[in-house]
Amino acid sequence: MNQTGLLQLLAIPTAPYREERVSQWIQTELRKHQVPYFCDTFGNLVVGVSSEQEYRILLSQPEKEPLRMFVAHMDHPGFHGTRWKSSSQLEVKWLGGTPRKHLVGSAVWLALPDGTTTSGTLVSATLDRNKTHLVKAMIRCDLIPEKVDAKQLFGGFAFKAPVWKKGSLIYTKAADDLVGCFVAIELLKKVIEDRPRRAIALLTRAEEVGFVGCIAHVTSSGIQEAKRPLVFVSLETSRTLPGAEIGKGPVVRLGDRASIFSAAGSEVLHQVAEKKLKKKYQRRIMDGGTCEATVGVAHRIPSIGISIPLGNYHNQGLQGGPECRGELGPAPEFVSISDIQGMLKLCEGLLEVNLPWEDPWENRRQQLGKYLKEGKPLLERFS
Ligand SMILES: [Zn+2]
Repeated sequence: MNQTGLLQLLAIPTAPYREERVSQWIQTELRKHQVPYFCDTFGNLVVGVSSEQEYRILLSQPEKEPLRMFVAHMDHPGFHGTRWKSSSQLEVKWLGGTPRKHLVGSAVWLALPDGTTTSGTLVSATLDRNKTHLVKAMIRCDLIPEKVDAKQLFGGFAFKAPVWKKGSLIYTKAADDLVGCFVAIELLKKVIEDRPRRAIALLTRAEEVGFVGCIAHVTSSGIQEAKRPLVFVSLETSRTLPGAEIGKGPVVRLGDRASIFSAAGSEVLHQVAEKKLKKKYQRRIMDGGTCEATVGVAHRIPSIGISIPLGNYHNQGLQGGPECRGELGPAPEFVSISDIQGMLKLCEGLLEVNLPWEDPWENRRQQLGKYLKEGKPLLERFS
């Protein structure tokens, strides 16, 4: 696993609808490794095919093997500038989930149109009516070149660095879902030579504000009319929960807050996890949030999910740790390196041929048959 690349990617500024820098880094990485890709009409990246035409051909092949679509998103909750209140005070609106306490005085980063970043401090904050997340704030900016249009600025919470390692953990301003994007790219880099027809990655925009990029792609790319079976595989970082703990392996995600995923697909994933990771994986419904598999489910595409347990989800100080400003205050997200390696292994396992996508329960039926054989005489005695 290219850890240097992961750290580079995690340091890049992103926010809903402002994924351009992440997208550019990914494109450079893909070109470097000769992995084909194209940008769809909405700026989502489709990795593994070089054009929309090639994509449609792939979807129209009468193959038995399902096309695995690994889906991850390039954005993270953040703010957009709305207007200058004074020469150094910027009014911003926040998009996506946020911390809700200890906000005033916290540090932020701001991305400038010239590709650089600067810093600032949050001087006032407005939460939504239910007081669950930030909707508006005032930022005092440190160094802003003259005459920058407020609306071109975007940013998020800042910590001592955009990314750093501590033991087996990575702390960052945004693991969600740049980690998912990283795994998808690593996977495609690895398999593009020998398995070009079974895997593609869809790296989307504006997930944090309602899966907007993903919905745009699903409803207009022709995947709903595909001639071959599809499996949507959401690659996410998800709020850590009991039974989905950091460092104990990736999670076979059975569902999210909105949906239960494909029973057959999830069973295949479970079997792959048993084989590839032995006991070093976890399995549960991750209902701390939603993910793009829900878009798949709603469009009747068999969908499954793999999650990396995420500390301080959406920069909320839920687990605390270094640089956390207090409970439910701004905090860096963190993930375990071994969980990321586990996710990559699971993805590779999902690409093996002849996995029982249509009927993964044959062994289970045999087992049930044994139960019946043993118990049936007792059933008969009662009648
Ligand atoms: Zn996410």
